[in-house]
Amino acid sequence: MIVLTVDTGGNGIRTCEVEIDGQKCRALPETLSESGPARSLEEWDAHLSRQIHAGLDGISYAAAGVIEQNNKMLDWPNGHWLDGTELGTWTKDRYGLLTYVFNDMEAAATGMAELTGEANFLGVTFSSGWGARVFLNGRMVDSAAELGHLTVDYTPNALPCPCGKVGHYEGIFAGVNMRREIHKLASRANMPVPAGMEPGQYLDQMYAKNVIWAVAIYDWWSRGVGLWLAAIASSFPIDAVVYKGSQGKYMIPHCRPKILEYATGGIIGGLEPRIERLRIMETPGNILNEESFVGAGICWNQTTW
Ligand SMILES: [Zn+2]
Repeated sequence: MIVLTVDTGGNGIRTCEVEIDGQKCRALPETLSESGPARSLEEWDAHLSRQIHAGLDGISYAAAGVIEQNNKMLDWPNGHWLDGTELGTWTKDRYGLLTYVFNDMEAAATGMAELTGEANFLGVTFSSGWGARVFLNGRMVDSAAELGHLTVDYTPNALPCPCGKVGHYEGIFAGVNMRREIHKLASRANMPVPAGMEPGQYLDQMYAKNVIWAVAIYDWWSRGVGLWLAAIASSFPIDAVVYKGSQGKYMIPHCRPKILEYATGGIIGGLEPRIERLRIMETPGNILNEESFVGAGICWNQTTW
């Protein structure tokens, strides 16, 4: 079976066909296509209709936000014009193909399981936001559990989180606030981020030179990630952390030893071996977001059973 998978991020629409054979699923990189973000269903249609052909068996979306019954978009952070739309029904009616909509992290974690073969792991996106899902015995523990929104700061002036609550890991340690912190500390040290440069890249350069504020940010982030992993590993016997996202790509290679040190300190007493055996790895793949395409295909296939 061939399913067209659609990854609908803030930067645009990316589609890729996947081939499903039994329970196996693989991406077909030669079918990858990209377009800019859509601002209406007409623009959405203008891009998608070019990818439709007679050989397709279905369509599967990986979309950020809250989705009702694999169909209705309740809260799409990449463009709220889509909120309230039954995207699955619209797509099915438009192209005549069985369509389901999945949360993007649900799809990504499902694809991570397929690409890595890990059965007990935390799948996580470290990017402008944090997304996370736990797999145990090869199954997702709870497709709705957004672990980036655990509370870490209980003080009255805790930072607001994009979800509307306050003091969450994501609101403090994900990319949006980290960029703010980099600007703040760099300016305070009279070393402002050069115009046009990505703050994360500047942070990396300053860290390589052992600049004190950059080292402090890495240490602070390592502690945040380490204590978060400690909370999760205290609750679930995971063997691995599989990550994706630009923040993880930049920071994890530098921060891995400190993250593990803080995680060991933070985990429930007696469970330290869970951290000792924890493997932290970037998600494999030959094309960008391959895990999302593969995962969307598997989720589609499981839903049609
Ligand atoms: Zn939150």
